[in-house]
Amino acid sequence: MQRVIGIDLGTSNSCVAVMQDGVPTVIANRDGYKTTPSVVALTERKRRLVGHRAKRQAITNAEHTAHAVKRLIGRTWDSEEAAVVRNTAPYTIVEGPHGDIRVTLQGDKYSIPELSAMILAEMKAVADTFLGEPVTKAVVTVPAYFNDNQRQATKDAGAIAGLDVIRIVNEPTAAALAYGFGKGADTTIAVYDLGGGTFDVSLLDIGAGGVFNVIATAGDAFLGGVDFDARIVDWLVEGFAAEHALDLRKDRLALQRISDAAERAKMELSSASEAEVNLPFIASTPQGDPLHLRRRLTREEFDRLTRDLVDRTVSLMQKVLDVAELSREDIDEVLMVGGMTRVGGVERAVKQFFGREPGKGVHPDEVVALGASILGASLVDKVHDLGELLLLDVTPQTLGVMTHGGKFEGVIAQNTTVPAVSKKMFTTSRDDQTSVKFIVMQGESEIADDNEPLGHFELNGLRRGPAKSVAVEVTFAIDADGIVSVSAKDVERGVEQSISVTASSGLTEDEMAGMIEAGRRYALERSANEGLESKKQEVDSLLFQMDRIFIANMSTLDPATMEAARSSGARALDAADRQDVAALTEHCTTLAAAVEKLKLSPKR
Ligand code: AMP
Repeated sequence: MQRVIGIDLGTSNSCVAVMQDGVPTVIANRDGYKTTPSVVALTERKRRLVGHRAKRQAITNAEHTAHAVKRLIGRTWDSEEAAVVRNTAPYTIVEGPHGDIRVTLQGDKYSIPELSAMILAEMKAVADTFLGEPVTKAVVTVPAYFNDNQRQATKDAGAIAGLDVIRIVNEPTAAALAYGFGKGADTTIAVYDLGGGTFDVSLLDIGAGGVFNVIATAGDAFLGGVDFDARIVDWLVEGFAAEHALDLRKDRLALQRISDAAERAKMELSSASEAEVNLPFIASTPQGDPLHLRRRLTREEFDRLTRDLVDRTVSLMQKVLDVAELSREDIDEVLMVGGMTRVGGVERAVKQFFGREPGKGVHPDEVVALGASILGASLVDKVHDLGELLLLDVTPQTLGVMTHGGKFEGVIAQNTTVPAVSKKMFTTSRDDQTSVKFIVMQGESEIADDNEPLGHFELNGLRRGPAKSVAVEVTFAIDADGIVSVSAKDVERGVEQSISVTASSGLTEDEMAGMIEAGRRYALERSANEGLESKKQEVDSLLFQMDRIFIANMSTLDPATMEAARSSGARALDAADRQDVAALTEHCTTLAAAVEKLKLSPKR
């Protein structure tokens, strides 16, 4: 039987699962963790780090560490999202050749699908090791509210990672699948999914016969944990500025340390009533004296700082109920998905809204990948393992075209069950018009400019005639992945043009081919060098520890001990570059001893 893995490609963390003897199972990575940070970094020597290793060194290599790139997937350079990241992320983004976004790491530019592919490739490698053979097929999850551009770009990322993405599935739908799998009950559930970067809420009917019917979905692709973290960062930075008249935002290293500490504080507040942020040597006075950042954050203060964000999720819950014409009482169960649902204020808001305790039956970080693995298995092996599984999802946003006067005309309404096809007749607007141009978009605004453009195409060779005399029939289709295609037909002449709407921010075929090849080469090299690779990663982790000790205790460390550690680090890196396993192993041992010695040095 073909294996299909389910991958939850999250903004902050990713998770991979597979069906094992009919049981959906999360696969732990080589460090034993069931989720892997969605972080990619390039070291000074251009070595690629993904996951925990990338996250651990983020503080000392902030400019070359890309995190939360999911926020940028399928977005254009001139989008609001790009502007936000440009102003707040410690890494640099630049405009790509197609008005798209590229991230600069150690002087090289990477497209967002490429960076996402590095994370997917890591998840694939985790699964390959676990299964003892390479897997090629995957179901990848996306936020329900993702538009076509974002879905296409995610599919491209899968291809670059060497995966055949047999289905893109919405995260809340996958969560519902994992929850309802094998339960055999008729229920109506709400899935509240607040992750690192996105928020979705979906309502589903689960039928006893294995039918999962999504009734409606709503969301915000720019609302998640990082926004909560940003509020804490603002609070810390502003507090510091008030005290010392210094703007910490100008210092990328300091900002990365503050962001890290903010996330940690947020997590601490899920179980404690107060969290301390303590960042020694965060800056220095013009006279060169060190300054430290130390502040206590209470739960009340955190709730106050983030109340409007929680309120936005509450409005969306109301909106989805309204659309579905359901009341709160019609919901039998509320599923909480995503790491952010551990936040007390979030849990309270959901409880208050539905007037009941949200369900705790699923693991918020793992349930999406589990659902994707169930769907994956059902797609390749309909009969044996799973019995019937029928998934009916909906399109989250209205699909339509721009018409005269910059208006938007919807063709397939939001919350229509997919796959969906709709035909529409258009007529020429001018005398002797021989071609028509269509601008395809998704969104809910009547003003075309407020919606997300997906692409454009032209139908040429129309018969000349007076305005409105020539008819063109346009067929819009959305497949089960939520991906859009459009074709247009000159009704009189029967001339048809089938156009796949390529996103204006998408990659060209040549670029894709190059990236797929580079991904394949990297995977081959990596598996050939497994021993070398794990030693290199050990060195990275030791260097990271060394840097932290240096940062925290700079003025009290013995210079000779510091120098010894530094030079064995340099020798280890040199051996790594020369691919010399024996030398690398030797220097790695020396480095480990040097770091141990540093740990024992006097602390302030
Ligand atoms: P996800 O995208 O579902 O992996 O969710 C990741 C988000 O959940 C990140 O913003 C994390 O900071 C946040 N998160 C994870 N664990 C906790 C926790 N215990 N308390 C608060 N937030 C958390």
